[in-house]
Amino acid sequence: MTQVRVRFAPSPTGVLHLGGARTALFNWLWARHTGGKFLLRIEDTDRERSTEESARAIADELRWLGLDWDEDPVIQSSRLPEHIAALEKLIQQGRVYKCYCTPQEREAMREQALAEKRTVLYDGRCDGKPDDPTQPFVWRFRMPRSGETVFDDLVMGRVVTPNAEIEDIVIARSDGSPLYNFVVVIDDAFMGITHVIRGKDHLTNTPKQIQIYQALGLSVPQFGHLPLILGLSKRLRSAGIGAYQEQGYLRDAVNNYIARLGWSHGDKEIFSQAELVELFDLANVNRSEGALNLEKMEWINQQHLQACTKERLAELTQPFLAQKGVEARADARLAAACETRRTKCRTLVEMADSVAFYFVADEALTYEEAAAAKHLVPRVRELLAGLGQALSSVPDWSEPALQAAVSGYCDLAGIKLKEIAQPARVAFTGSETGPGLYEMMVVLGKTSTVARLERASRA
Ligand code: GLU
Repeated sequence: MTQVRVRFAPSPTGVLHLGGARTALFNWLWARHTGGKFLLRIEDTDRERSTEESARAIADELRWLGLDWDEDPVIQSSRLPEHIAALEKLIQQGRVYKCYCTPQEREAMREQALAEKRTVLYDGRCDGKPDDPTQPFVWRFRMPRSGETVFDDLVMGRVVTPNAEIEDIVIARSDGSPLYNFVVVIDDAFMGITHVIRGKDHLTNTPKQIQIYQALGLSVPQFGHLPLILGLSKRLRSAGIGAYQEQGYLRDAVNNYIARLGWSHGDKEIFSQAELVELFDLANVNRSEGALNLEKMEWINQQHLQACTKERLAELTQPFLAQKGVEARADARLAAACETRRTKCRTLVEMADSVAFYFVADEALTYEEAAAAKHLVPRVRELLAGLGQALSSVPDWSEPALQAAVSGYCDLAGIKLKEIAQPARVAFTGSETGPGLYEMMVVLGKTSTVARLERASRA
């Protein structure tokens, strides 16, 4: 079998949204699964809407997802001479004609078709007209007038289109500047693309492109059209991958989630990147639409968080703490801190929020007003001061030793643990929520534990 060569061909007019990321991921997975090549082409021929900034952002987002490409990206606009040469070939072969129709004429044609309940198609009226050098024109490609264009879509199955229903499409403006359905063929052939995997919104373009391949004598690749992605608001659907990164989603979780939008492997829900590469098969891509669901995405993220080592969690959480202005190194202490909150957090933002208290200066910890009013009352403050003193002489700062010391103190003071457990939690975290008391004290360390109890006793 010839080596698989696939490509992702974004138009650089915005960010990489979920739909685009899925197209990129499925192409990348197919290349990695088959030992083929994954290529990138920047389709920047729309000079008004394309920006370099967008091309850079898309490349950064692909890199963040780990979807690395194997050859230098092809910049479509740099291939204009090749596009013009192909147009000239079609002109010489008589496969294209000049169309002089005005926008008004095309609109009238459209209205008439609608009134007669026919598909709106250009009717070929300029085909065979004599040249008129005084009039502006565009180049149209003449489709066959009879027969069918047939292809076996790797996802959708056999697609049969009567040629009479394929419009004579405009492939170039009068200055020779070429349009999408034309250049995509020339560039895919140039790049040796074997499989064109893209969104279903391109399904009706494919018969047009097949006709152009054939006219230019190029071999036609295989096609696979991915189902649409539905659900959520348009705003969320079009949010860039960068937004998910900022919200504290893990790279592998985002890829896992995107992969499941249109692909499945039995009942399995959680996949590492390596498992995706191993198990992905175009044959298992669903035909039905994938629906976005944020809760599911959070759940998947949580599963990936659970699977990280605590050292990895520390590395991932550190930048989110820095963003909050909390200084912490990705060291064993942060790893231990993350471990105490691992099961509670769905995203790295939540993780950073929930471990930040460990790292603020003891004197700078802020108490939630309601929690302080409820728990840091005069008699309890005295007890906290006493607890602080008792703990300052614990030699072995381990969970069992701390448990023994706290219960010894409760006996001595004649109180039950629950009378000081919540107040102590407020003293340590500033709120009523937080990790288990003893594991929290171990991570806080003796100095901070004692200092926070002492400070709360003065609150
Ligand atoms: N630039 C096109 C898009 O972003 C690429 C379509 C294709 O893959 O052929 O939709």
